[in-house]
Amino acid sequence: MKREFAVIGLGRFGASVCQELSAEGMEVLAIDKMESKVNDFRHIASHAVIADSTDEKALKELGIRNIDHVIVAIGDDIQASILTTLILKELGIKKVTVKAQSNHHEKVLLKIGADHVIHPERDMGKKIAHSLISNNFLDHLELSNEHSIIEIKASKKMIGKTLVELDIRARYGCNVVAIRSKATNKMNISPLATDKIEAGDVLIIIGADKDISKFEKHLV
Ligand code: ADP
Repeated sequence: MKREFAVIGLGRFGASVCQELSAEGMEVLAIDKMESKVNDFRHIASHAVIADSTDEKALKELGIRNIDHVIVAIGDDIQASILTTLILKELGIKKVTVKAQSNHHEKVLLKIGADHVIHPERDMGKKIAHSLISNNFLDHLELSNEHSIIEIKASKKMIGKTLVELDIRARYGCNVVAIRSKATNKMNISPLATDKIEAGDVLIIIGADKDISKFEKHLV
């Protein structure tokens, strides 16, 4: 199934999104105001065009209104990123995903109607920091500014213990929402207090970031 995407801004991040969507067989319209960037995508994206996305008329002429999902990957020029997002939402684009540079930038983007705001550098930095702290750390998904889901391998301190023995909710304020068993390769999505953690199990934990940090410090 092909879906139509447009990627505006072909810097390192936008280029990578554009490349991956194209490799997955998606229809992608790649847009940048710099000719050299656009030329790099002539044989990768379905269409690659030079345009300034702060120019509403130019975007209309590109038929942007027919596109389902637009990704605004303009890096340093916050003003251009905001103006582009505003124009896209005014043109009625259903899904606009925007890369933010800072928390203030994110706030403005959400106020003007961006559907999804991403912080690739911040998110990757968090993931790497967690994996530096612990070899058991597998993944981190930010739910809000204060809440996350993490995926970790069972540590020595957990193996052989039941959830009630570990008492994660009362001690650290976070919840084990699922356990993936290495032995059975099954996902237990409603773990019971009496379920025992085995070596190689992977725990999926939800909580406030400060509680997750506490949990990681003591148990991971
Ligand atoms: P990254 O940090 O992902 O590398 P950059 O800031 O280097 O991001 O790149 C952003 C890209 O967005 C650049 O290629 C730039 O030419 C493009 N860009 C910036 N403003 C506009 C605009 N108004 N219209 C179209 N492209 C733009």
